[in-house]
Amino acid sequence: MTKAVLLYLSTSEGFKNFLTRFKSFNNVTSRFVAGEELPQAVEAIHHLNQKKISASFDHLGEAISSEKEAGDEVREYISILDAIEENALDSNVSVKLTQLGLDIDRKLCFENARAIVEAAASRRNFVRIDMEDSTRTDSTLEIFRRLRDEFENVGIVIQSYLYRSEKDIEDLLGAEARMRLCKGAYKEPATVAFPKKKDVDANYIRLMEALLRSGVYHGIATHDENMIAATRQFASSRGIAADQFEFQMLYGVRRDLQETLINEGWRVRVYVPYGRSWYPYFMRRLAERPANIWFVMKNMMKG
Ligand SMILES: Cc1cc2nc3c(=O)[nH]c(=O)nc-3n(C[C@H](O)[C@H](O)[C@H](O)COP(=O)(O)OP(=O)(O)OC[C@H]3O[C@@H](n4cnc5c(N)ncnc54)[C@H](O)[C@@H]3O)c2cc1C
Repeated sequence: MTKAVLLYLSTSEGFKNFLTRFKSFNNVTSRFVAGEELPQAVEAIHHLNQKKISASFDHLGEAISSEKEAGDEVREYISILDAIEENALDSNVSVKLTQLGLDIDRKLCFENARAIVEAAASRRNFVRIDMEDSTRTDSTLEIFRRLRDEFENVGIVIQSYLYRSEKDIEDLLGAEARMRLCKGAYKEPATVAFPKKKDVDANYIRLMEALLRSGVYHGIATHDENMIAATRQFASSRGIAADQFEFQMLYGVRRDLQETLINEGWRVRVYVPYGRSWYPYFMRRLAERPANIWFVMKNMMKG
């Protein structure tokens, strides 16, 4: 099964219903998703923190369809911020704007995002706005810029598969915005994104160098050992200290590498998703590494 098919299935409600009929499928998802409820994510982050790994909570809830659901997401994020304080966790939060009403009304979405960033500011915490597919890049950046005008404790994500990202980084560095650099997880046409992995990777390295040179604290989000080696090498050659940026990885992916980097003195943050709407997130993770399908099938047959 190809990456494109998995990305297509990540939006299919019918395929989701088919898969979740297998009881054992639900066990498999726990490799990439901390659980359906907040206390399970708190527990997972507690374990990461014990290994000196920082975290970012992500409540899975993309593409909601009502104002009420968007309001529920704001309340969930404020509960997360409270849980971070109560449990003294080393964690910030990541959020998608579609979760806060981007597809319903931009003003509503801005107000919801603002409420979360303000709640985080009053608790001295930080909010990362995730980046979604390219039809939403402009609206996401516009809302981010308005938030950044008012608050310091908000950052954004840039995807190296998009042709536009070099220019976006240049503009965002003008506002000293904190960025997470990733390759990009959505199915994009060749009109907007590099179709070949080698070009996405070459652009990743170019953008990583621009970010590290800027002196602003950024996140280098990847599990690709070549990207990590290039980052380490660039930082060492420029005398950029290990506390001037952080590596970021996903929950359940390359745990060995997360620990190796920590042991070598680098900073690592792990993105910890939880929630009932885990399906599209889970399918995107399978698409990134189709070998994971064998892991899923093996476990489904066990159940
Ligand atoms: C912290 C974090 C936040 C992210 N936020 C966003 C976002 O806001 N928007 C967005 O579009 N994308 C986001 N992504 C996803 C990202 O865009 C990529 O799809 C994903 O990280 C895979 O790319 P890679 O850099 O690991 O390299 P790849 O070239 O995809 O993979 C390199 C190697 O990493 C390992 N690997 C990668 N993925 C997996 C996996 N699922 N399971 C097992 N091994 C794997 C494999 O060994 C693979 O060979 C985020 C990723 C991270 C780490």
